[in-house]
Amino acid sequence: MLSTMQDVPLTVTRILHHGMTIHGKSQVTTWTGEPEPHRRTFAEIGARATQLANALRDELGVDGDQRIATLMWNNAEHVEAYLAIPSMGAVLHTLNLRLPPEQLAWIVNHADDKAVIVNGSLLPLLVPLLPHLPSIEHIVVAGPGDRSALAGVTPRVHEYEELIAGRPTTFDWPELDERQAAAMCYTSGTTGDPKGVVYSHRSIYLHSMQVNMTESMGLTDKDTTLVVVPQFHVNAWGLPHATFMSGVNMLMPDRFLQPAPLADMIERERPTHAAAVPTIWQGLLAEVTANPRDLTSMANVTIGGAACPPSLMEAYDKLGVRLCHAWGMTETSPLGTMAHPPAGLSDEEQWPYRVTQGRFPAGVEARLVGPGGEHLPWDGESAGELEVRGPWIAAAYYGGSDGDHLRPEDKFSEDGWLKTGDVGVISADGFLTLTDRAKDVIKSGGEWISSVELENALMAHPDVAEAAVVAVPDEKWGERPLATVVLKEGAADVDYEALKAFLAESGIAKWQLPERWSVIPAVPKTSVGKFDKKVIRKQYAEGELDVTQL
Ligand code: ADP
Repeated sequence: MLSTMQDVPLTVTRILHHGMTIHGKSQVTTWTGEPEPHRRTFAEIGARATQLANALRDELGVDGDQRIATLMWNNAEHVEAYLAIPSMGAVLHTLNLRLPPEQLAWIVNHADDKAVIVNGSLLPLLVPLLPHLPSIEHIVVAGPGDRSALAGVTPRVHEYEELIAGRPTTFDWPELDERQAAAMCYTSGTTGDPKGVVYSHRSIYLHSMQVNMTESMGLTDKDTTLVVVPQFHVNAWGLPHATFMSGVNMLMPDRFLQPAPLADMIERERPTHAAAVPTIWQGLLAEVTANPRDLTSMANVTIGGAACPPSLMEAYDKLGVRLCHAWGMTETSPLGTMAHPPAGLSDEEQWPYRVTQGRFPAGVEARLVGPGGEHLPWDGESAGELEVRGPWIAAAYYGGSDGDHLRPEDKFSEDGWLKTGDVGVISADGFLTLTDRAKDVIKSGGEWISSVELENALMAHPDVAEAAVVAVPDEKWGERPLATVVLKEGAADVDYEALKAFLAESGIAKWQLPERWSVIPAVPKTSVGKFDKKVIRKQYAEGELDVTQL
């Protein structure tokens, strides 16, 4: 028997309409570096998004599922593009402005982008690429920045403000199939070539509802969220859509992502929530330790994208800021878990839950798979590869405009689950603890050593700012850990024996203690601010590191 319920498609168009009417007074505040930030209400954003849709249709000829790229910081215009492009039936393609130029060009060509909306300050990145981007017919420039480099380029150039000015604030939005493509995002390629994940209207809608649940970010129109995680990094973790659904005010840092301006904007605008990867929180901590600022408005922070060292959580606890750990991937929209401890526990009892990656929401099913393909129990001990499925989890990668979608065997199981490439354990009550990425695990004499566990222990040392541990070849054991450490400013000269003893005291088994050590000036980072262990392994292989063997 079929249900008797209405079948209303879950679309971004509905999120846009809801936000601009019911939450019309909520605001997007964009940092400008000027004395005053720029403020725009959701009603204004909605009206301008509608004007943008009219402009894209009438001036740029967007009439179907063409891909429209954005090369932009987090700001109000980027939110407008987020809402306008999918709502008119086209596909928003956010470009990662930190990728190497060749990769960026590869991605634009693979997605066959018709136009790009770009921030003026990013033209020096875009313009030299244009000869390699034959599909780009239009460039729309928004925000400050020198335009002179655009003289003589082949695509038609439009000024964002001029393009939308005077256009109608109504649009005949098409009734879309909720399974249609709304947005796409290429994985940042920490491990291999970028792969295109294509989100549907339905997946975005359902993911946004999950982001808004109290067991996830739980924000309302009384909140302001500081969206540090870039809009090109898995849709800023879904925040621009989720906020439009529930009227949460957004504070957008634009290009001011350095620790000092971030601290200034927090002190001045008093956001109640923020979202960013651990590197950002490390940098901000160093900044406010040197030049104290009041961060206490941010009661609640979502941290993810890479493992959060427990020492970082402790440091922020002392500042009155509670970091809540979340796990996810480009392929998971990204919300996969969040580490809110179960009810009824004291602070002390909550701690072991807070340092896990967190608990799965109802929309994300999980299983652990052992090396022989067997399913492992949720006992907090059996370690295996995490596989997930659910309505906002990818089932394939984009195969290009004339190819079928791709389902590589190493990424998707035969029965359709996503193989995450992350290794960990799950407790009986559904809390995930990741021990490593499958590619980063150190396989020493048939046993596994978790690089993350060593890093977390090292980063708890008072002289260590950052630490990255990678596997290096070893004649006797196959692989052994190499510990690279970044010392805090003003720290005493490094004493590797003392660091090793510190690891032993913090509970690392003797056979897991690294014998190879190196002090490095900074841990190399990927385009989204994660530790780039590929680079360290290469530096080691090419003899570029000054390694001490104990
Ligand atoms: P990339 O794979 O290119 O780094 P993603 O942003 O999709 O791009 O990264 C997803 C990966 O990031 C996950 O598979 C996992 O390894 C890692 N990750 C994300 N959140 C966490 C977390 N809280 N703890 C540990 N690792 C995490």
